[in-house]
Amino acid sequence: MTLPFFPTDLFDDDRAELLDIVHRVGLAPDQKFILGERTARFEAAIRDSVGAADAVACGSGTSALTLVLRAMDVGPGDEVIVPAFGCAPLAAAPALLGATPVFADIDPWTMVVDPAAVARLVTPRTKVIMPAHMFSVMADMPELRRIATGMGVRLLEDSAVAQGGTLAGTPAGMWGDAGVYSFVQVKTFGMPGEGGMVVTRDAGLGAAVRMLRNHGQDGKSRFVYHRIGYNSRFDEIMAEFQLYRLPTLPRRLRRRARIGEYYTGRFAELAGCGVLAPPPARDGRCYYVYSLLCERRDELREYLAARGIGSHVYYPAPLPRQPAFAPYTRPGDAWPAAELAARRTLAIPIYPHLTDAQVERIADAVCRFAKES
Ligand SMILES: *Cc1c(COP(=O)(O)O)cnc(C)c1O
Repeated sequence: MTLPFFPTDLFDDDRAELLDIVHRVGLAPDQKFILGERTARFEAAIRDSVGAADAVACGSGTSALTLVLRAMDVGPGDEVIVPAFGCAPLAAAPALLGATPVFADIDPWTMVVDPAAVARLVTPRTKVIMPAHMFSVMADMPELRRIATGMGVRLLEDSAVAQGGTLAGTPAGMWGDAGVYSFVQVKTFGMPGEGGMVVTRDAGLGAAVRMLRNHGQDGKSRFVYHRIGYNSRFDEIMAEFQLYRLPTLPRRLRRRARIGEYYTGRFAELAGCGVLAPPPARDGRCYYVYSLLCERRDELREYLAARGIGSHVYYPAPLPRQPAFAPYTRPGDAWPAAELAARRTLAIPIYPHLTDAQVERIADAVCRFAKES
């Protein structure tokens, strides 16, 4: 692959700074490698950038979801409404707490959860509605918030892929009772390691998450366990690295958006030839992954590969069709839009260090495939 889907040089430009940080943290007199003052500064920077009451760094995006659900006392007997199309933690986080993930179908074009489907699934057992932003499109948060408020249930916004995006002036992560970010390398604010964050306007919820991430301790008295907690702490080297990279995040997001808009412009004419681009818009977008819907998806994938262009299938099956989560489904349940997306979706490269010429080459190849065959 001359244009791999997962580039191997994500952090090359930051190598000198990263090595320097390893030295600084490693030789610092306090010898703090987790949850030190660097993590606190990183949390404050993210908190202030989105206007949250609290931001709590933790071990991963998955862990962030778990910590919030646990802080909301989600457990056996509770239902959590999640998208039928997405990644494992959406269903696994509630299931591992003993709750039942309930799968809502998606919008066939944007692939985010359909608010009407969510509304139909609310029962007296529903405790949390947990939408996720997908690929480049944010979920319909105004409508989901209206449903959650109207039904008296909590709203947890999985913003793992949308950090830096805004919808109607509100940052991704700030629409519900809490939001989560992930810093795993492929995400828009990814890093060479594992980490996540919870953001919330609810200081009480933030304090509960803070306690749960470090064995139920309150940060003052050591070895006093107020609650049964987790080990989900944050790395000091990564905190300083992320602080260093935060000011340039908007530039990388703008570059992603420009590539996405170029693709969407080029692909507008392909809708009649079986290749559908995401709906054009500016608001409520964050270009983490650029996913096409393609009738002959596997053929397009091979066509691109033959020309040295990598692509990726997120996700090959709806969550309720996975062996792990099928036990949570009920006879007669159906997710036709999620099934269709799983058959048709194909993501093409959109990372910010692609050159204009490379972006053009990728777009040319997709257009030629759609028109030739
Ligand atoms: C990546 C991702 C997660 C999990 O984040 P990790 O840091 O990998 O645990 C959760 N939800 C969504 C929608 C994601 O894309």
